[in-house]
Amino acid sequence: MLKIGIPRGMNYYDFFPIWYEFFSELGAEVLVSPKTNKDILNMGVLNCVDDACLPVKVFHGHTCSIKDKVDYIFIPRVISLEKREYECPKILGLPAMVENNINDLPEIIDMEINFRKNKNYFVKEIHKVATRITKNPIKIRKAYNTAMIEFYKYKDLLKAGLHCELAIKNYNNNNIDLINKNNNDNNRLNILLLGHPYNIYDDYVNMNVFAKLNKRKINVITPNMINDEYICKHVSNLSKRMFWTSGKKIVGSSFFLLEERKIDGIIFLSSFGCGLDSVLLDIVERKSKEYKIPFNLITLDEHSGEAGINTRIEAFIDMLEWRFEDENYFSPHG
Ligand code: SF4
Repeated sequence: MLKIGIPRGMNYYDFFPIWYEFFSELGAEVLVSPKTNKDILNMGVLNCVDDACLPVKVFHGHTCSIKDKVDYIFIPRVISLEKREYECPKILGLPAMVENNINDLPEIIDMEINFRKNKNYFVKEIHKVATRITKNPIKIRKAYNTAMIEFYKYKDLLKAGLHCELAIKNYNNNNIDLINKNNNDNNRLNILLLGHPYNIYDDYVNMNVFAKLNKRKINVITPNMINDEYICKHVSNLSKRMFWTSGKKIVGSSFFLLEERKIDGIIFLSSFGCGLDSVLLDIVERKSKEYKIPFNLITLDEHSGEAGINTRIEAFIDMLEWRFEDENYFSPHG
């Protein structure tokens, strides 16, 4: 049986159920790299160019960790997910970067995802990938349909507030009510955890921010929990159209939650050297000042230490709790 490796990084957090179900239905075995750990991070740093951002280095590390165990590595080239929108240039060039940086790789399956072209182009790309495993068109169609059904279940779980890894473990569990959800209606504070999914959901990279907040009885809201229609409506208030899909999600979800007064604070997890974030966080911080909601930026790189992050999160939560205990005059911005 053919073995296909999927590195647990970058677009894994957005699309893993699609690729897992698709390849499995076609008859291949899927191997996912383990959760990020020290060895994976070190391999990524060693095998990637110095000035790449942390998520790209981490992705290289994940690729190294499985490259000798599989027949193919699947790294889609995600160019555009919506009409007139793009992904970050580092995401566009990811398969080429990996191919040039890492030695002795198995063949990379690098289908192009580009919805600036018509839908037939996507269908053709899907077929191109599938025919490496089977030539049976009925099987290919069935695999695609199953993948999409499971993908929407996964998205529903993210919307319901589950951490991505928990949603991946449970998307084919039909009884959502039995899943132990991360958030709780009795919690007093709601924090918007903002950033790209690979920063929000990689617990090693962000040193478990998600769990740390839940442990302090704080509900964590992420952009994945917000309906697309609210995101689009609120981002349209910008004077210039947001043409990065991930930027639209970050800005649209924060504007919606600020304007509807649904959050007590914002923590923005950003990667050191991220060009997109340098623009996005400025837009969000200005808006949060307007609504007097505290904003905390945490910049992540391979040198980030847990003690420093803990101190900043603890201090931020203490300040939010003081504000909640009727000290509303407490300045949100220092
Ligand atoms: S958006 Fe930022 S963090 Fe993500 S790949 Fe691009 S530069 Fe890196």
